[in-house]
Amino acid sequence: MVDIHDKKTRSRNMSAIKSTDSKPEKLLRKALFAKGYRFRKNVKTLPGTPDIVLAKYRTCILVHGCFWHMHENCHLFKLPSTRKEFWKAKLLENRSRDMTAQSELLAQGWKVIIVWECSLKGKNKLSLLDVTERLEEFLTVPRVHARALEIR
Ligand SMILES: [Zn+2]
Repeated sequence: MVDIHDKKTRSRNMSAIKSTDSKPEKLLRKALFAKGYRFRKNVKTLPGTPDIVLAKYRTCILVHGCFWHMHENCHLFKLPSTRKEFWKAKLLENRSRDMTAQSELLAQGWKVIIVWECSLKGKNKLSLLDVTERLEEFLTVPRVHARALEIR
């Protein structure tokens, strides 16, 4: 698909949104750190470059931006009204990449937590305390009982 006209603008937007310390991730890292958790961030050697890796708990946390990761039925996700087909194809590709990364992590013996952006920002956000408590609870559950958690 030819898209020279606003390529520059878009890549600027994308790099802004994809920046490694986007706000929801920052909040979450701060909260976990304050509770004494230690982790690595943006681990490129793992599938999907997890935002937060708690090696001690063999758990990866991926904070998903609702637009780029196509969070359906979410007020933060709306398919752009122009060039719909382009965006749909692009976002579906992102989503399939997410699925692949998640199953690869699980196959490598990791537990996986997906935290959607909307649980940390916007009109439906949860309290940071709620989110961290749910995370903590999941960390203590043996992997045989729960391998993946989604917070939205
Ligand atoms: Zn969302």
